[in-house]
Amino acid sequence: MDSRTRPQIEAWLRYFDDLGLGPFYLDRTAVELSAVGAADREGGHLGPPLRGRVDQSGPPPPVTTQPAARAVRAQDVVLPVLPSLFNAAPRVEGDTLPRIREDIGDCKRCRLCEARNKIVFGDGNAKAELVFIGEGPGHDEDVQGLPFVGRAGKLLTQMIEAMGLRRDEVYICNIVKCRPPGNRQPERDEVATCSPFLDRQLAAIRPKVVVCLGSVAAQTLLGTNKSISQFRGQWFDFRGSKLLATYHPAFLLRTPSAKSEVWKDLKKVMAELGLKPPKPRPRSG
Ligand code: SF4
Repeated sequence: MDSRTRPQIEAWLRYFDDLGLGPFYLDRTAVELSAVGAADREGGHLGPPLRGRVDQSGPPPPVTTQPAARAVRAQDVVLPVLPSLFNAAPRVEGDTLPRIREDIGDCKRCRLCEARNKIVFGDGNAKAELVFIGEGPGHDEDVQGLPFVGRAGKLLTQMIEAMGLRRDEVYICNIVKCRPPGNRQPERDEVATCSPFLDRQLAAIRPKVVVCLGSVAAQTLLGTNKSISQFRGQWFDFRGSKLLATYHPAFLLRTPSAKSEVWKDLKKVMAELGLKPPKPRPRSG
C-alpha cells in the first residue's frame, strides 16, 4: 500500500471505530484471521493484527479466494486484550512536572521524534482535579508545542468552559507527545515507549477525574480493545483517580449530533467534581 493511501484508510477506520462500527471492519479482519490460521498451518508466519487492525509491521495478509461462509464470524474471534501499559510503569516518589519534562529532554526514544517539530508535553494546572487525555498532537500542536490548540482544541475549550471551568484550571495532555506523521494513530510500541511519562504526569498531578478523549486514550489506559461506544460514559477506577471516556472533539467536529452524548458524559464529571454549569449571561439591550 502506498504512503498516501495508508493514512486515508487509517483515518476511515478510526472514523468508523469512533462511530462504534468496529465490527464493520472486524468482519473483514475475521476473514483475514481465518486466512492467517490457514497460513500458519501451511507454514506461514503472519501474526494476529493489533486491535483488529491490519498489522502494519508485518507483510500484508494474503488475498484469499475462500468464500465468506468459510470465514470465522467476528463474534467468534477472540481479539487480543491489550495489557494496560500503565500497570507496569514504575512511579517516582515526589515526582514533579518540571522534573518529568527534564527527563524527556530532546527525546529520541521512539520513531515519532523523526518528523516532529516540537514535543507536546502537556499544559494546564499542575494540581488540577480534572485531566483530559487525547491521542497525540496534530499539526497545530506540533507547531506550537501545546496540546489541543487547533479546531478540536477550540471545541475542547468550549466544553471546559461549559462545565464552569477555565482551561487553565484543568490539565490537558496526550498519550504520545510527538505528532504521528500524517496524523495516523500512534503504533503500540510508540505508545509503550511514551506512556510512562504520561503515567508519571498523572501521578504528579493526582487528579480526581481523568477524561479520555477518544478510543486511543481510553483503550490505552484501560487496556482494552473494545470500541469506545461500548464503555463511553461509564466510570472506572484508575490508579487512584476516577476515569471516564468520551468522544474526541475531532469526532464531534465531524459528527455534531454526538455532542449531546458528550455533554451527558461531562455532566457526570461535573457531578463528580461538585461543579455547577455557569449561569447564562443576561442578554444586552
Ligand atoms: S513520542 Fe514520546 S517517546 Fe516518542 S520521541 Fe516523542 S516524547 Fe519520546
